[in-house]
Amino acid sequence: MKTATGEALIHHGTLVDGNGGPPVSDAAVVVREGRIVFAGPAAHAPPVGATAARLDARGGTILPGLVEAHFHPTYFNVAALEDLDIKYPVEYVTLLAAANAKLALECGYTAARSGGSLFNIDVWLKKAIEEDLVPGPRLAASGREICGVGGLMDWNPDYRRIGMEGLVLLVNGPDEARSAVRKLVKDGVEWVKTYPTGDAASPDVNDHHTLCMTFDEMHAVVATAHNHKLKVTGHCRATAGIKNALRAGYDTIEHGTFMDAEALDLLLARDVPCVPALYFELASVERGPEFRLPPRVIDGHKETLEAGAESARMILKAGGRIGLGGDYGFAWNPHGDYAREISFFVKYVGFTPLEALTCATRTGAEILGRGHEIGTLEAGKLADVLVVDGDVVADVSLLEDRRQFVAVMQGGVVKAGQALSR
Ligand SMILES: [Zn+2]
Repeated sequence: MKTATGEALIHHGTLVDGNGGPPVSDAAVVVREGRIVFAGPAAHAPPVGATAARLDARGGTILPGLVEAHFHPTYFNVAALEDLDIKYPVEYVTLLAAANAKLALECGYTAARSGGSLFNIDVWLKKAIEEDLVPGPRLAASGREICGVGGLMDWNPDYRRIGMEGLVLLVNGPDEARSAVRKLVKDGVEWVKTYPTGDAASPDVNDHHTLCMTFDEMHAVVATAHNHKLKVTGHCRATAGIKNALRAGYDTIEHGTFMDAEALDLLLARDVPCVPALYFELASVERGPEFRLPPRVIDGHKETLEAGAESARMILKAGGRIGLGGDYGFAWNPHGDYAREISFFVKYVGFTPLEALTCATRTGAEILGRGHEIGTLEAGKLADVLVVDGDVVADVSLLEDRRQFVAVMQGGVVKAGQALSR
């Protein structure tokens, strides 16, 4: 991805640097060749040349570009899970994924970690974004997800004679788990996404208290992935599934819904980040009836909503790391709504705005493995910056409305926001 040339000054705004400290009023950010050389009180800023680009934050907020830590660019706002795999061919899903990536960037998300991809689209989407062919967040790519045969993601009945190969690699036993990871290694993914547990979406045989992979399968996934320097994450709701994942050596936990004290200890022992992806649950409860989700499914989402909120509070309070991202790409939780996750964590879960913003920036970048380059506004980092017209700390829901954005920058280049259209 190309970075800006020359100098730029972002001024006349309040700085939230992503580290969680108090906001700095009357701040300035100075950028040279796409990297931050200064972020702090304007009075201490180094002088910039007469030719420097100047961006007036209009008394608003200057913060790091947001990071979507559980992004599914290939999920195309489906109303039924089955549509994911069979509604469209790979050619069309690829175009939809590119459109979703552009939208995410316009929504202030300058980086994202994929939480699982249809086909092998994310790997190539990432390349297209890196080469500036299409706009989008800096992407950490996942591939097809791994699930046990008969588990949550194995829903096409055998009599239909269609597999699940566009969506998942189904495994029986550690040998097949190893083969699946080896295929993903060849595909070029960075993250291996697995399904240790079921979900409220499947109340009959794979609900949120059901396991969908064995410990041995999960351990084989981790050993193979780590050997090839890939990272592993998993959809973990049931308590036993969370513990299996942490004991098997998972690098992050998705959802972490039913945490208990022992699971928390395991999480903290290796400082494993958790991405609750929790607004999805509220959206399923509130908007599910509109999309004919069965009452049992909605009841299950109520249970995972409450347990997930409690687990997130527990992790934050204990000093653990939380990433924000939200399984956007369903009809009731569509692309473009990403920042609802941040408002939700403030209004519903009880995080302070600064805590939620740190989760949505610095921790997200750490999850991507790029914490040294992005996620905070500090000297030396890439100038991935979001400038919002208004006080985001007073009202985080401003982030939900991209019309309020003065600028979305990647490497100092303005990619979206009002500053682009002038
Ligand atoms: Zn997901």
